[in-house]
Amino acid sequence: MNRCPNCNVILYHHPQVCPLCHSVTEETDPEQSEHFAQLFGEPAPYPNARGRNKLLRFILKLVLFVFVVAEVIMIVINYYTAVTYPWSVITGFSFLYIYLFLVYWISHDSGFAAKVGLQMLITMVFLYEIDAFNGMRGWSLQWAIPSIILLGDGLVFLLMLLNRSRWQSYLLLLLLLGICSLVIMILFTVGKIHNVVLPLISLLVTSLYFFGTLLCGWKSAGRELSRRFHI
Ligand SMILES: [Zn+2]
Repeated sequence: MNRCPNCNVILYHHPQVCPLCHSVTEETDPEQSEHFAQLFGEPAPYPNARGRNKLLRFILKLVLFVFVVAEVIMIVINYYTAVTYPWSVITGFSFLYIYLFLVYWISHDSGFAAKVGLQMLITMVFLYEIDAFNGMRGWSLQWAIPSIILLGDGLVFLLMLLNRSRWQSYLLLLLLLGICSLVIMILFTVGKIHNVVLPLISLLVTSLYFFGTLLCGWKSAGRELSRRFHI
C-alpha cells in the first residue's frame, strides 16, 4: 500500500499520485503495511485538514500584501521610466487576477502547484500579448514577466514552508519558472530586448533556489521528478 504524505491517508491500491490532492505518494514498507491493515482493515482513514485553514488564510494575506507592494513598485518604475504607456495598470490587473485564482485554488487544494504554474504561464503569455499588441516595447519581457517569476519563487518558498514535508512537490513549479527566465535570456541574446537586469535576477534566484533545494533533498526530489515524468 502507499501513503500520501500530504493528506496522511493510506491508499490500498498503489497509485503514483494521491486521488485527493494529486501529491506524489510514498510506498509504505511491509511492516508498516501490516500495522495499518491490522489497525484499519480495508477502509482508508480520511485526513483531517482543518488545522491548515488558519495558516492558509494567513498566507493569502501575506501574498496579497506582497502583490500590493509589487504593484506600487511597478507604478513607480512605470512613472520614472520614459515609457508613456501605462503598463503598470495591466500588471495591477494581473496581480488581482492571480490573487483571485489563489483564493480559489488554495481553498480547493487539489493539484495546487500545477494550477498555480498554469495560471502564471497564462498570465505571462497574456502580458507578452499585450506588449506585442502595443508595438512590442519590451516591458513585458524586461520587467513584468521577470517580476512574476520572482513572485513565483516567493510563492514556492511560502508553499514549501507551509508543507515542509512536501517541499519537493513544488519543484516542478520552480523548474517552470527557471525555464521561463531562460527563455527571456535567450531572447536577449538574439537581440529582442536590451535591458536584462530583472530577467537576470529572476534567472539567478530561480536556478539557485531550484538546484539548492534539489541538492538538499536529492532522494525525495528524485522520486518526485521520476514519478511525475514516469521515468
Ligand atoms: Zn493527498
